[in-house]
Amino acid sequence: MFSQFALHERLLKAVAELNFVEPTPVQVAAIPAALQGHDLRVTAQTGSGKTAAFVLPMLNRLMGDPKPRLSIRAVILLPTRELAQQTLKEVERFSQFTFIKSGLITGGEDFKVQAAMLRRVDILIGTPGRLIEHANAGNLLLDEVEVLVLDEADRMLDMGFAEDVQRLAEACSGPHQTLLFSATSGGSGLREMVNKVLKEPVHLQLNSVSDLNEGTRQQIITADHNYHKERLVEWLLANETYQKAIIFTNTRVQADRLYGKLVAKDVKAFVLHGEKDQKDRKLAIDRLRQGAVKVLVATDVAARGLDVDGLDLVINFDMPRSGDEYVHRIGRTGRAGGEGLAISLICHNDWNLMSSIERYLKQRFERRNIKDVKGIYQGPKNLKASGKAAGTKKKKIDPKTGKKVAKKAAAKTPVKAKRNTINKPKSDGPQLVSQDGLAPLKRRTPAAD
Ligand code: AMP
Repeated sequence: MFSQFALHERLLKAVAELNFVEPTPVQVAAIPAALQGHDLRVTAQTGSGKTAAFVLPMLNRLMGDPKPRLSIRAVILLPTRELAQQTLKEVERFSQFTFIKSGLITGGEDFKVQAAMLRRVDILIGTPGRLIEHANAGNLLLDEVEVLVLDEADRMLDMGFAEDVQRLAEACSGPHQTLLFSATSGGSGLREMVNKVLKEPVHLQLNSVSDLNEGTRQQIITADHNYHKERLVEWLLANETYQKAIIFTNTRVQADRLYGKLVAKDVKAFVLHGEKDQKDRKLAIDRLRQGAVKVLVATDVAARGLDVDGLDLVINFDMPRSGDEYVHRIGRTGRAGGEGLAISLICHNDWNLMSSIERYLKQRFERRNIKDVKGIYQGPKNLKASGKAAGTKKKKIDPKTGKKVAKKAAAKTPVKAKRNTINKPKSDGPQLVSQDGLAPLKRRTPAAD
């Protein structure tokens, strides 16, 4: 129950209004620690309820000391516009019974309008790049900030925002609390940021990567080439039961191409990638939310942090380039305890990457065949001979970063994650294969694959 937290009654009223009954694990762990005023470093997946975990204590703090509105009192930094927009909505929902005002500062919107808005809000939610532009123009005073949140900090670093985030954190020069959230444990860049911006932080590690997406089944389907993958996508969209689907490609060109194919087959879809302007991106997300379209074709950057109710099917047209990116992608589905299905389409050149991600997650994805669109490629030949996943001898790719590594280094790649409870065969032996998504799962010998 949310009443277990020492939150202002107006915040509890908003929580009740939103029909949140039980707090999620990240909320149980982070809310009391944040209410005590500690700096926090929280590792928690997208979809775990982490937004409320930082928004509620932040609002509580601002409400506890109602100052006349003279300057910005809290800042939430996020990597993308879409995520910033979503967070603004969450903040507005939680602050609906308070006098606290929030505003959004992201690229692609009118600079002067934003500059005027900066003088009227308590909480500023934005992407680092545009906020730095306002700081450079002398519009942004952060010396009275009481709470600074860095959400998806690992992603902000991946996107090259380290310096901007650092500068903005330094601009918060008064006494303040900093809450840093990341979906992954990150690398040395994140450690450096933690050391620079957090003071004696409490570290809450909610889940290792393999604990993610408990409600999501993860499957692979082998494919001969991109054309075969396109036919598999068409088949899946026509035959799977789902409310809304997202299909990830690694390139804008492939996203546009697949989108064109789907539209030609009368599939109601939208495409979202970095070349789309802000209006198109907003339209795509709104239409998906409203249910006017069921299918979104997207690249990673465009879909980062997307939170759409009922998104229960994720298809990896291309395998993501790293284990962390895979986790981010399938984090779109199975959110807040919902059920989901994640299917990766695997050509021969995706196989090693796929099996390195399996090793990283300590999971074995369910193998699936679709009889109607069956191809020739069924996985590497040595899989049949040895019954082992391919790529176990040559660990050429660092599954965490997706980068190629020298043999020696690869052998040392640490695997921190625990074995998941889903898709949890204990050996590399017989696999579970479902046929066309219709027949019950049945056992096959490795040789039959
Ligand atoms: P987040 O990880 O913050 O993006 O949250 C994912 C989704 O879960 C959002 O749609 C939230 O509104 C929802 N959510 C967060 N906390 C709860 C809760 N305690 N009960 C029900 N839904 C929640």
